[in-house]
Amino acid sequence: MKLVVAIDGPAGAGKSTVAKRVARELGLTYIDTGAMYRAVAWKVLQSHGDVTEEATKEAAKDIDIRLSYEGEKMKVFVDGTEVTEAIRTPEVSRNVSAVASFGFVREKLVELQRRMADCGSVLMDGRDIGTHVLPKADVKIYLTASVRERAQRRAKELREKGHDVELAEVEQEIAARDKADMEREISPLRQAEDAILVDTTGLSIDEVVAKLMALCKGAA
Ligand code: C5P
Repeated sequence: MKLVVAIDGPAGAGKSTVAKRVARELGLTYIDTGAMYRAVAWKVLQSHGDVTEEATKEAAKDIDIRLSYEGEKMKVFVDGTEVTEAIRTPEVSRNVSAVASFGFVREKLVELQRRMADCGSVLMDGRDIGTHVLPKADVKIYLTASVRERAQRRAKELREKGHDVELAEVEQEIAARDKADMEREISPLRQAEDAILVDTTGLSIDEVVAKLMALCKGAA
């Protein structure tokens, strides 16, 4: 039986960490749509240095984005270049919401995401999956946590990768991204009416995974 799971929520809610594990346990293909918007942002920054509508149009025109999987690890390629790590820098994080607000970028990526979901059972995470990309998903989850806790998790992750970041700075970046993602005109971040709210504040990864597994098994 085909199972389609949509997970949405703000930055740093733990979506990708738990989504990867739930997908593996249930045998679903994990699709990280944030990585796709980050890939476009990376290309704009590489070719132009800052984000403008013209530069984004040019970069998005014939961009080739590929997500490939080697067991647990997902690799991201843009026009044949591996950008798995390069799309996670604070610079890309600061600029990705602006790139993701353009209608032409969203149309292109949503079409690609829907095609990927047609191929079988998937777990897709992002901001507009339950509300727009896969409105008929079997399970819709809205994952969130307090801004402070999301910033702490993100700062820890960045420090582990060798980035020298201040908690206050990360918290500010996350709050700005929340605002931009929730207030944009096209497909803003919001909880779908039929999505189940899971607040992960104070919960461990194992606890969140267990909650999500139970929700997915209930629908399978
Ligand atoms: O999930 P992640 O934090 O990597 O997403 C990066 C950015 O990509 C988000 O802040 C948002 O601006 C954009 N995005 C989006 N729609 C999605 C997934 C991500 O607009 N479905």
